[in-house]
Amino acid sequence: MAAEYEAGLVSGFAAEAVDVVVVGAGPAGMSAATRAASAGLSVVLLDEQDAVGGQIYRAIGRADGRRKEILGPDYAAGAAVADAFARSGARHVAHASVWQVTRERSVHCLKDGKVGSFDARRVILATGALERPFPIPGWTLPGVLTAGAAQILLKSAGEVPTEPPVLAGCGPLLYLLGWQYVRAGVPIRALVDTTRHEDRWRAKKHLLSALRAWPFLSKGLKLIRTLRDAGVLGPGKGELALCARGNVQPQS
Ligand SMILES: Cc1cc2nc3c(=O)[nH]c(=O)nc-3n(C[C@H](O)[C@H](O)[C@H](O)COP(=O)(O)OP(=O)(O)OC[C@H]3O[C@@H](n4cnc5c(N)ncnc54)[C@H](O)[C@@H]3O)c2cc1C
Repeated sequence: MAAEYEAGLVSGFAAEAVDVVVVGAGPAGMSAATRAASAGLSVVLLDEQDAVGGQIYRAIGRADGRRKEILGPDYAAGAAVADAFARSGARHVAHASVWQVTRERSVHCLKDGKVGSFDARRVILATGALERPFPIPGWTLPGVLTAGAAQILLKSAGEVPTEPPVLAGCGPLLYLLGWQYVRAGVPIRALVDTTRHEDRWRAKKHLLSALRAWPFLSKGLKLIRTLRDAGVLGPGKGELALCARGNVQPQS
């Protein structure tokens, strides 16, 4: 297989020499590609998705005004990043899954069922992060989604739950999703934060450095205020939260 590949026998498109290959069309990859192209380099940006945006700016090129309003200013800011990339002269190759980068900086990908490769002088990996859900009893039942999957549906198709959902878990993405659902007019039954009191207590030693990043704290507080005003957090929701904390245990 390797020899065939070297000879280009199974290659869907001939190996192409470029200055820079960037893998990942999220904000990091788009910005790197834009910067490299503006320095006069030939740049190819590969991503397995159908459009640029990555996780945070997913489907930004298709989002109308209403969707941007629901998803908020942090999401809408992605339009400028995507526009700058589109004007940069860097080439975007969509639906291209990179499966190998060799020591010689040959980048091999699969696009539309065909193998292709680029010989790059430099390779930038900007492949981002993955959601890391942990399994709990019932997590494969119909109607149960991870927060990331729910947000992907909202960003890429404007889809929201038809029944009031319970949002359970911890971390900022859950609160962001709740805030976006409130803006989309979705009634939320409750937001159940499963963070244990002892974990909150342990995090207190980072309070000072957190205060230095006050714009992020203030953003988080605004999300929480919106959720409180919408009745998603606050009196009456605590019992459900306690009940969930008792029951949510990672599956071994
Ligand atoms: C589901 C989800 C939703 C999120 N939503 C938000 C949000 O709303 N707000 C926020 O602040 N943060 C959000 N995050 C956090 C997010 O990871 C960062 O904010 C931001 O998107 C990171 O940017 P990035 O450019 O580093 O990577 P990403 O945006 O993750 O982009 C990486 C890109 O690399 C591509 N890729 C990965 N591997 C390959 C490969 N082998 N071949 C080809 N392409 C590949 C992916 O398709 C993706 O488009 C979310 C994370 C997840 C997992």
